[in-house]
Amino acid sequence: MCGIVAYIGKKEAFPIVVKGLKRLEYRGYDSAGVALLHGDQLNVYKKAGKVSVMEEFALGQDVAGHAGIGHTRWATHGEPSDVNAHPHTSMDGKIALIHNGIIENYDVLKRELQNQGYIFKSETDTEVIVHLVDYISKKEHVWFGEALRLALSQVHGAYAIVAISKEYPNRLVAARKSSPLVVGIGAEGDFYLASDATPIVEYTKKVVYLDDEEIAVIDLEEGLKLYNIADQERTPFFQQLEMELEALEKGGYEHFMLKEIHEQPRSIHDCFRGRLNAEEAWVNLGGLRDYEQKMITANRLIIVACGTSWHAGLVGEYLIEDLARINVEVEYASEFRYRNPILNENDVVIAISQSGETADTLAALELAKSKGATILGICNVVGSSISRLTDGGSYTHAGPEIGVASTKAFTAQVTVLTLMALSLAHKKGTISETHFRTLLAELEAIPEKVKQVLETDALIEQIAAEYKDASNALYLGRGSSFPVALEGALKLKEISYIHAEGYPAAEMKHGPIALIDENMPIFVIATQGNSYEKVVSNIQEVKARKGKVIAVVTEGDIQVREMADHVIEIPETNEFLVPLLATIPFQLLSYHIAVMRGCNVDQPRNLAKSVTVE
Ligand code: GLU
Repeated sequence: MCGIVAYIGKKEAFPIVVKGLKRLEYRGYDSAGVALLHGDQLNVYKKAGKVSVMEEFALGQDVAGHAGIGHTRWATHGEPSDVNAHPHTSMDGKIALIHNGIIENYDVLKRELQNQGYIFKSETDTEVIVHLVDYISKKEHVWFGEALRLALSQVHGAYAIVAISKEYPNRLVAARKSSPLVVGIGAEGDFYLASDATPIVEYTKKVVYLDDEEIAVIDLEEGLKLYNIADQERTPFFQQLEMELEALEKGGYEHFMLKEIHEQPRSIHDCFRGRLNAEEAWVNLGGLRDYEQKMITANRLIIVACGTSWHAGLVGEYLIEDLARINVEVEYASEFRYRNPILNENDVVIAISQSGETADTLAALELAKSKGATILGICNVVGSSISRLTDGGSYTHAGPEIGVASTKAFTAQVTVLTLMALSLAHKKGTISETHFRTLLAELEAIPEKVKQVLETDALIEQIAAEYKDASNALYLGRGSSFPVALEGALKLKEISYIHAEGYPAAEMKHGPIALIDENMPIFVIATQGNSYEKVVSNIQEVKARKGKVIAVVTEGDIQVREMADHVIEIPETNEFLVPLLATIPFQLLSYHIAVMRGCNVDQPRNLAKSVTVE
């Protein structure tokens, strides 16, 4: 949520910052701005709208300078407007600052500063920080970096902050608490700063992820120094990025979302590569090995997540309970943390988050940790806050996901949970050797089968054309296909703005059936398996009320084909693995409908990737 980019060095800052902002635009995109240091000038350009709007506005003016900071905003306090866009500046125009997060006590601070004569231009919470820094630096006669450090002890909330001042043209100062920030160390004595590594990777692979309550002082002569809030110097931990630049480009696809949908054969394979071998009959999730015994004997496993990751968690619940016979609960992270949950050292809490930065999920983990539970993570972004906070965990290795609507991250999360269920079941002895081997072999075959599902794209596009004008849609599934129905509905809502609901197929008759008429498309997962006959009956119930049925069926199905208005075939696989295949047609369907409705697929309204506010 919100993107921060900064540069200081010998090169021109503006093109680097703007390019970086465009890479980060998926994190928030309601307004954008830059501040550039050029000689004794601090030039600030900011505009509501996309980064390109701000870029065009700035290009007509002085954009020179070797130091710059840039921000793409996802508004929390104050509407998206030119004035509310970041950077915010001190009243004397000397300091400029960008911020990601929320300052919870901004109101009190604002009133105190107003009493000191400070005049606020914006409605944001952020503006209090820049005035507070200015106030402290004048009152205490300290430079702006020291003033920022002192200011932070008065601030409650979450932040990633970068500040510059025209009095210190060779310095950048940054700080973080609960919102991510990474420093890139360039080869020419230059430095990059960003909310995640995507804007940095094309310049350098040497990075330092800031820790919570850490302050980075970058000086072109003295280099990078880290301090904690108490002013003690910390030793930077340098890391090498493994990300490749191509992963951040659209690679010929019209949208990132479409590219990411098509990457799934590879991302699922990358997720299990080196972690399973069907022939030798083993599964090994390295980061979880030390905790498996604990998971087997735990009171319960509690999965905490939000949005799409929560749906993946629900699939995990079906798999782990059924295969490993361990009690699993899946919780919305935001609810869990405020419910005073009963937790102790016999519980294992597993957080699922693509970005590894989801504020609600992080807070739920912190709560679980404080109560003595073992905490584990399933994240996509290497080095993210959740991966650093947890005792152990597993990366999904799906590669950078840029489209705001999650696709390949979801299937990778489900893949990790499948591996987890299999590994636990095998260790616990709740799965027969033959069944274990069959499932491993089936999982290995999934990437090829995903390729086959992707080949139904033309058919799905035709179906999309037929239902693109619907105002409501229903998604139905049973068992582990129920979360697939939830995920299908979420995808449609997120990117095409059609109201959609996911339901367990059998629940339909307890309410949603009242909505069904000849205009209502009902998407049903009706693949072969235990509840096939039951789902067939549910389809009959829909047809009796003239609803339009679009069914995802197993290749060769005859029965549903006769009843449904459309069928989309997926290859046969074990019932446990159906979610990995059945979810793909719904991703494509939402994509095509959104494109046909003229929606911005990669950056849907009001949403942002990596939700770092609570
Ligand atoms: N709370 C700040 C604002 O509304 C920052 C939001 C963000 O993280 O983009 O301006």
